Amino acid sequence: MTIKAEILSVGTELLLGDIVNTNARFISKGLASLGIHLYRQGVVGDNPLRIKEEIINSLERSDLLIITGGLGPTTDDLTREVVAETLNRPLIQVPEILEGIQAFFNSIGVEMEKSNVKQSYIPQGATWLENNNGTSPGLIVEEKEKKVILLPGPPKEMEPMFEKQILPYLSRYGSGILKSKILNVFGIGESTMEARVEDILEEQTNPTVAPYCMEQGLILRVTAKAESEEEANREIAVVEKKLRERLGEYIYGVNNESLEEVVVSKLKQYNESIGIAESCTGGMLAATLTGVPGVSDLFPLGITTYSNESKVKILGVSEETIRQKGAVSSETAIEMAKRIRALSNTTIGVGVTGIAGPTGGSIEKPVGLIYIAIDYRGEIHHIKKQLFGKRNEIRRRATNHSLDLIRKVVKG
Ligand code: ATP
Ligand code: MG
Repeated sequence: MTIKAEILSVGTELLLGDIVNTNARFISKGLASLGIHLYRQGVVGDNPLRIKEEIINSLERSDLLIITGGLGPTTDDLTREVVAETLNRPLIQVPEILEGIQAFFNSIGVEMEKSNVKQSYIPQGATWLENNNGTSPGLIVEEKEKKVILLPGPPKEMEPMFEKQILPYLSRYGSGILKSKILNVFGIGESTMEARVEDILEEQTNPTVAPYCMEQGLILRVTAKAESEEEANREIAVVEKKLRERLGEYIYGVNNESLEEVVVSKLKQYNESIGIAESCTGGMLAATLTGVPGVSDLFPLGITTYSNESKVKILGVSEETIRQKGAVSSETAIEMAKRIRALSNTTIGVGVTGIAGPTGGSIEKPVGLIYIAIDYRGEIHHIKKQLFGKRNEIRRRATNHSLDLIRKVVKG
């Protein structure tokens, strides 16, 4: 049996835009994984009349309503009371819940407030769910064929409760599952990517393939609807193979892996080490790489040589090269890569130089011109890119292109 579901998120701060509704997203994904059809998501402030109106409307349309937020101890936390009133059920105190709340406060060494007592009341006939990360129990109220589920607002309480207690409860109402796999793509424009896979995008029904533009390149989301996880995996694998045939090396990872994570794990896998010399990115490449845990084993040295003088004096780039070819040139990038590799005594040296703008460009060397060079065990690789965007976008893109080049060069 498959049922129609809705989500209602309660909280004025959601309406004001002060917080993002990550609860709705989390629950939506969970329902999709069970094949439960989600028909609506609603958001309402901490207002009893409007909460009531939403509950009544939802239960006319749908079989399942999941509400988050407003289960706390304060006076603006109204969800429990409004649900009880709307469904005509008195609130009954459950001593076991009160003991649990008391125990929670004891465990964190804080005195329980009187206001917490109201959290031990539940609508008559409801099932309550233990909250291991806070005070509000979750609640399931079954009303004839309809179900209302109440979950606490804080994600660190809601998410484990949903995963451990709600998903198993709801699994009998789903029809198969929906499963997604994400392919991460870098180094190709959105329209070029779409042109390459156009027929796959068009012919697909199950699994579906959807392209999205993300901060670090593009993604293709492949979603299969199937009876079981194994079947979904098999269906996804067929489409994934086709997409990989078309996009080859542009696919750098899966399921939202970042370029830097892919780079670090590849460097580890092949026992490489890396030194970095940056100019226009000003340390961004080193900073991005050091965002990945465990990088210290393979990254001994990164320097920002921003001026010509520091490129010569600190790094040892030849004055001659800079005078003849300019600081923004493939020759300078290559010397930076070679010198940093020697200085850091690593298997890889990276040099990045370019013009981040908004000033400093010329006709021969416009803003956004970037040279990236890699000395990989004495083998030189270099690329030239003309990037677009504001100063920091250019720096970010130059960083990403550097990571992408490292990923491609390292072969093991
Ligand atoms: P508490 O016991 O903390 O009062 P509660 O169940 O009453 O919990 P709310 O008061 O509605 O929940 O929200 C508490 C906090 O939980 C919010 O300040 C916010 O940080 C987070 N939160 C609430 N709703 C959401 C949501 N839909 N998505 C993400 N975070 C949320
Ligand atoms: Mg609250």
